[in-house]
Amino acid sequence: MAKDFLKDARDEYDVIVIGSGLAGLTSANSLAKAGHRVLLIEHHYQLGGMATWFRRSGGHIFDISLHGFPIGMIKSCKRYWTKEIADSIVQLKNIRFDNPMFSLRTTFDRNDFTQQLTESFGIAPETVVAFFDAARGMNFYDNEGATVGEFFARFFPGREDVIRLLMEPITYANGSTLEDPAVTYGIVFSNFMSKGVYTFEGGTDRLIGLMKDELIANGVDLRIRCEAQEIHVENRKVTGVTINGRRIKTRCVISNANLKQTVFRLVGEDKFSGQFLDDAREVRLNNSSCQVYMALQPGELIDESVGDLLFSSTAPLFRTDLLLSRDITSRTFSFYYPRTRPGTDRCMVVSSTNARYEDWANLPEEEYQRQKEALIEDTIVACERYVPNLRPRLAHVEASTPRTFEHYTRHLSGASFGTKFEGLAVSRALPEQIGGLYHAGSVGIIMSGWLGAVNYGVIVANDVDGYLLKSTPAGSIATA
Ligand SMILES: Cc1cc2nc3c(=O)[nH]c(=O)nc-3n(C[C@H](O)[C@H](O)[C@H](O)COP(=O)(O)OP(=O)(O)OC[C@H]3O[C@@H](n4cnc5c(N)ncnc54)[C@H](O)[C@@H]3O)c2cc1C
Repeated sequence: MAKDFLKDARDEYDVIVIGSGLAGLTSANSLAKAGHRVLLIEHHYQLGGMATWFRRSGGHIFDISLHGFPIGMIKSCKRYWTKEIADSIVQLKNIRFDNPMFSLRTTFDRNDFTQQLTESFGIAPETVVAFFDAARGMNFYDNEGATVGEFFARFFPGREDVIRLLMEPITYANGSTLEDPAVTYGIVFSNFMSKGVYTFEGGTDRLIGLMKDELIANGVDLRIRCEAQEIHVENRKVTGVTINGRRIKTRCVISNANLKQTVFRLVGEDKFSGQFLDDAREVRLNNSSCQVYMALQPGELIDESVGDLLFSSTAPLFRTDLLLSRDITSRTFSFYYPRTRPGTDRCMVVSSTNARYEDWANLPEEEYQRQKEALIEDTIVACERYVPNLRPRLAHVEASTPRTFEHYTRHLSGASFGTKFEGLAVSRALPEQIGGLYHAGSVGIIMSGWLGAVNYGVIVANDVDGYLLKSTPAGSIATA
C-alpha cells in the first residue's frame, strides 16, 4: 500500500501553507510562533523550494541557488528565524566580471563601485553619487514610470560599458531587462550595494535543516511528499485544501506555489472576478535557468584567487536577449571552496545561465540529452579559462534545464524567479477576491530571491495573523 504522508494529520488547521520555499517556510514559522495551528505541505521530498541542494555518490553536495544575497538577510534571519542562522551569514568578497568590455574584481559595495566608476570608467564623482542616491531613493509606491534603460540614460548616456557593469549582475540574477520599470532595478541594486554580497556558511542543507528544527520546535506540522491538488472555496471564503486526495479543513491558505498555478489550477477561474482574471492572465512568468554542476575530486582545490562569483561573458555588447539565448555567451560561475562547508576538502563550481523554457520543453528525449551534454561540454571549456586543468580533476558533472526546475518546484515553465513585477499586485489582491486566500512567493524582482522571499513571507504572515484574529471567536486561539 502507498505510504500515507498525511498520517496522523489533523482534520483542520488554522492555516495551510502550500509549498516550502523560503516565503512558505518563513510565513509558517511566524504564524506558528503567533500561536496558530499551521500545516506546511511540500510536494517534493525535501524542503526549501529553489533554496535547495542535492547529493551525489562520492559525498558531493551541490547548492542550487546559494550564489549571493544582500546583507538584509542577516537582519531578517535574526528577527524571524534564529541568531544561529543569522550568525552563519558571511560576505563574499571576491566578485569578478570578465567580458570583452572590461575585467575587474570588486567587493560589490557602494564604496568599491564608486571607486571603480570614477577611477577606471572615468565617471564624474558627482554623477556616481547622484546615481546611487536616485537608486536608493526609489520607492515602490511612487513609481515614476521610467524604465531601467531610461534611468541609466539619465546618468550615463552612451556608456554601454557602465550600464553593463551596473545591470549585468542583476539581469543574471533574476532575468530583469532594460525595459522593466526602473523602480524594480533601483530597489534590488541598492539592497546589494548597501554592503556587498553574502552567503550562508555550511551550505543550503544546513540552513534548511536549521529552519526545519525551528519550525518543529514552534509546532508547525511539516509534511513532505504532499501535493495540494485543490483549494476549496465556498461563499468566497477558503474552506479547505485537498492534499494527496485527502480534504483538510482550514480558514486560511498561504500558497507559496507559483502565482498563476495558484489562481488557475489550485483555485480555478470560476471563483474570481472577471477583472481580476484579466489582470492575472496578463502576469508574465519570469525566465528559467540552466545550470551545470561540477565537483572536483576530494582534495583537489581551486585557488581562491579565482573568485567567489564570476560574471563572465564573451558577447561584445550587453544585450538582455542574448542572456536568454541557447547560444550561450554568458555564464555566472559560483565557486565553492572548502570554507563553504567547513571541515570538508571539496571544491565545487556551479555555472548558471538564464534560459527560455520553450527552448527545452519539447525536445525529443534523445535530443534533450544531447543538448544537455553539449551544455556541459561548453561549460567546462568556458570554465577552464579561469580554472586551468579543470577537466581531469572533475569527479562528477551534471546539468539541469528549465524542465528540471519545473519538475522539482512545479513552477510553470520552470520560472526561476516566479513572475514579473506585475504579479505583486495580483498576489496582494487575492484576499480581496477570496477571504482567507493569500500568496507568498516570488513575484517580481523585489519579492523574489532569498531576501525578497523571506521578507514577503513575513509580510503575508502579518496579514494572515490579522485575518485569523478578526475571524476567530474570542478565547479560541489554539495553544497546542
Ligand atoms: C538557478 C537559480 C539560482 C538562483 N540564485 C539566487 C541567488 O543567488 N540569490 C538569491 O537571492 N536568489 C536566487 N535564486 C532565487 C531564489 O532561490 C528564489 O527566488 C527563492 O528561493 C524562491 O522562494 P519562494 O518562497 O518564492 O518559493 P520557491 O522556492 O519557488 O518554492 C515554492 C515551493 O512550493 C512547492 N509547491 C508548488 N506547488 C505545490 C503544490 N501544489 N503542493 C505542494 N507544494 C507545492 C514547490 O515544490 C516549492 O518547494 C535563484 C533561483 C534559481 C532557480
